Amino acid sequence: MTDRIEIRRPDDWHLHVRDGAMLKATLPLSAGVFGRAIIMPNLKPPVRTLADLRDYRKRIAAALPAGSSFRPLMTLYLTEDTDAGDIRAGALSGELTAVKLYPAGATTNSDSGVRDLERVENVLEAMQDADVPLLVHGEVTDPDVDIFDREAVFIERVLDPLRRRYPALRVVLEHITTSEGAGYVMSNAGRLAATITPHHLMINRTDIFRGGIRPHLYCLPVAKREKHRLALRRAATSGADCFFLGTDSAPHPVHEKESDCGCAGVFCAPVAMACVAQVFDEEDALDRLEGFASRHGPAFYGLPVNDDTIWLERKSPEESAFRDVETEAKERVRVFRPDAGLHWSVADR
Ligand SMILES: [Zn+2]
Repeated sequence: MTDRIEIRRPDDWHLHVRDGAMLKATLPLSAGVFGRAIIMPNLKPPVRTLADLRDYRKRIAAALPAGSSFRPLMTLYLTEDTDAGDIRAGALSGELTAVKLYPAGATTNSDSGVRDLERVENVLEAMQDADVPLLVHGEVTDPDVDIFDREAVFIERVLDPLRRRYPALRVVLEHITTSEGAGYVMSNAGRLAATITPHHLMINRTDIFRGGIRPHLYCLPVAKREKHRLALRRAATSGADCFFLGTDSAPHPVHEKESDCGCAGVFCAPVAMACVAQVFDEEDALDRLEGFASRHGPAFYGLPVNDDTIWLERKSPEESAFRDVETEAKERVRVFRPDAGLHWSVADR
């Protein structure tokens, strides 16, 4: 039985760090473990222009602990007004790593998202030319489509036609939650990849209602049936380089989660690597953990692997890992807690 493993420092290919007091409280928890992270642009208002992106990057740099070598990889929020010139300039200067597509209304702060893809044709062409990946929140927003079917329907109605129209565009289907998602990416790998979150590897939709309604397990895309969770575990631990870690860690104040209309998002950053190590251990695939967490992402984005390493170790469950985070504004954020506890953690060295 392996009790301690060393892997190249991982990266987080999908992260929400918000802004202001929330940014200050949550960013250091990612920066302590991950070398880089793709920073999601769904602020209020969103990160829409290169000027917005530069300002946000400065606020992120200011929130980093002194001496941190963490690198934020910045993204723009695709709207029907996105300027193709910003794409070309951001790609050329290296400031822009990717562009995020939110179908309007799909999740937290997505009201400015795209309603009609035909209106962003010039932007998608510029991205294809400059080889800037498109990161996709893969759910249709059609109210007639059942929430548990929205990912599968998105692939059929939106993603597949989009990829046929822009065959050279690199696309990441973010936070996949279904066997259809995993299967589609696997059979179209190359210029298509997918991120998988720690929590979607650990919970299914029944867990959200176990013993009562569990608002801190609600995120979008929502967790699906057990067979889908098992498909995600097979994909993540398969060794296929089209699958890599994106935590989708998404902090919200506790009072906004525990309300009449609680918002979507699971704050998993402080335990993300522990969760993933536990899943790979359970699947007898610890030898493939480094690929999923540290190697496949950089390969897709054309970046080098991180120079240094981290250690993960088996431990008796530790309550401290789950303590709520409190911001300077005295807002509490609940850390993701798997019911079965966590038996792995990131070691000091
Ligand atoms: Zn997200």
